[in-house]
Amino acid sequence: MKPKTKNQIRIVSLSEKLKPITYAQMEYGWYNCLGNHFYRSRKTLFCLECGHSWKNESLLITSVAGCECLECGKELKQSPNAYYNQVAYYGVITTFKDMQVVRIIYLQKHYKKGSPVAFTGLEVMQHWIDQDGNVTTMSRSVQGLSRYYDQWITSSELEVRPKQFANCPRYDIVPFKCYPERKILPLIKRNGFNGHFYDFAPHKLFKLLLSDPIVETLLKSKQISMMKYYKDSYQFEKYWPSVKICIRNGYIIKDGSIWCDYIDMLVNFGKDIRNSKYVCPDDLKKQHDKLLSKMMAIEKQKSLEAKRKSIDQAQEVYLDQKKQFFGLEFKEGNIKVKVLEHVREFMEESNELNHCLFSNNYHKKENALILSARINERPIETIEFSLKDLKIVQARGYGNKATEHHQAIINLVESNIHVISKMLK
Ligand SMILES: [Zn+2]
Repeated sequence: MKPKTKNQIRIVSLSEKLKPITYAQMEYGWYNCLGNHFYRSRKTLFCLECGHSWKNESLLITSVAGCECLECGKELKQSPNAYYNQVAYYGVITTFKDMQVVRIIYLQKHYKKGSPVAFTGLEVMQHWIDQDGNVTTMSRSVQGLSRYYDQWITSSELEVRPKQFANCPRYDIVPFKCYPERKILPLIKRNGFNGHFYDFAPHKLFKLLLSDPIVETLLKSKQISMMKYYKDSYQFEKYWPSVKICIRNGYIIKDGSIWCDYIDMLVNFGKDIRNSKYVCPDDLKKQHDKLLSKMMAIEKQKSLEAKRKSIDQAQEVYLDQKKQFFGLEFKEGNIKVKVLEHVREFMEESNELNHCLFSNNYHKKENALILSARINERPIETIEFSLKDLKIVQARGYGNKATEHHQAIINLVESNIHVISKMLK
């Protein structure tokens, strides 16, 4: 895109004056960002670095242990392919005038069995960061229809990109390593930069250090985990007073997300989250888990109470509908069939026989009389009897199956239909 704003025009002109990446800088990337490989074909080993090959039958050379090339002396790791490209992103960090610059290079090693490896390197992006932390990116173009987000067009030029480029996945690329000789703006150093990026993309860390005093404070107080958590957190303000107490007490938060979870639970239990006794636990994980199980126990209790309440309410209706059948039971041999008299019994019957009597709300069915067939007080089958048609709808045992007593149970109920019909209102 053509530079439009004053700032974009300035950055394009600065970029033109920036010296190209040197060979030494490229070379450092090739040797430090990409590994060295060999390929095995039966008993022949091929060094993919220098092209040398040799016979070897040793079982000591494994994909884990790797080997050393007899020709170039490099330590090699096994590759499953004989022809391929290995790629990595690499950063060169410098300053130009009053700007911090992060240059992103796309490195490649082209392997071909039997030939020495070929290297290429292409500067694909430049992030320009001003003293206020505003980032302007120059980037080459990519193939639009590729399934890869970074299929760079080698022949394209570095062009200034609009602000929305920050939403593009290429903006998030974190270089695997950076060239050790770096130039850093004094302001960034003053704001706490100590040479480490802590898995942040360099331009993003610089931006945060220049524009966000919280990040500056977190970095200077070595609250790295919290700093990583902060960048993705939408409601950090509520933790900030507690974080400051940790900082004041020299307490390092080792796991930002667990600690924030823990603070949330402290709030739930009404604890003082400005008291170092609570916010600086010796064993964070242990205290977190302790509160968590306490909370889960309370939740369980709450849901039990809710269930009990709903059963009590359902029982009122059930009692009203079916109380004239209460006390009804028939016996034949050791089998007893009785009417369920409480909704709680529906739940117990369901649990015992592993069926859906309770969850499907059979106690609410106005025209159904639910009977339980038992031997020695243990439910064997549950019977649904239609009060409308005066007949058995179903009788089911464990897991909805019929038992060996099924027919006896049916016979017992059917021989007592006249008793049930007399009880109808
Ligand atoms: Zn070699």
